[in-house]
Amino acid sequence: MVQPHIILQTAYNVLQLVCKEVLSYLVDFFDFFFPKLCAGCDAHLRSGETDLCLMCIFQLPKTYFWDYDVNPIEKLFRGRLKIDGACVYLYFQKGGKVQQMLHRMKYKGQPQIGKHLGIMFAHQLVTKGKFLDVDVIVPVPLHHTRMTRRGYNQSMFIARGMAEVMHCRVDGRTLVRNHATLTQTKKSRYDRSTNVESVFGCEHPEFFKGKHVLLVDDVVTTGSTLEAAGRVLLEAGVAKLYIAALACPD
Ligand SMILES: [Zn+2]
Repeated sequence: MVQPHIILQTAYNVLQLVCKEVLSYLVDFFDFFFPKLCAGCDAHLRSGETDLCLMCIFQLPKTYFWDYDVNPIEKLFRGRLKIDGACVYLYFQKGGKVQQMLHRMKYKGQPQIGKHLGIMFAHQLVTKGKFLDVDVIVPVPLHHTRMTRRGYNQSMFIARGMAEVMHCRVDGRTLVRNHATLTQTKKSRYDRSTNVESVFGCEHPEFFKGKHVLLVDDVVTTGSTLEAAGRVLLEAGVAKLYIAALACPD
């Protein structure tokens, strides 16, 4: 006679199989009507691909700054901010794929692209032995009105992706943005720097004392925003300050 627990176990296994099958049909059904598209080229994503297709990942215009002794971003901050290292993952061009990805990440409700790119960026850095002693990753904060409108801070997603690989924590509360940055396009570098000076502040500066901090933003162009945020961190007593951004102009 068959033992009751064997019957139960068999019924459970069959049920599990049926559920798996039904779930896979449902996934196919939704994929057919709501296909997931690549954030870089709009191609349909295949199974195993998320956010970006393999071709786009393969063709990402990487800066290879991690191979430089002193890279152009570190030169950009020379004489402006005391940093222990800086790096950028990709180049972006007007109308190019990277700009499209960043636009979707920032304005189209797809911040997970930032996490995905953050993971890939951090792998590159760790492989090259860069920023290995980071304690905490700090995303450049958004002003609360912009945060409310957008619903998320894209740099927080980049930071989370990087932290996953670098095995450190993320802090998005201590560094705060007091003002949304004013339009800066027609101002000189000096004016821009003074303009953003009071934009950032620290809620509990003692948190940063003695820490090795990696400050993360989505894009670096003039460097003024990162410079202003970085100064606040240095004033709070960070022992080492690193800077990372996903992209810079080509
Ligand atoms: Zn693609």
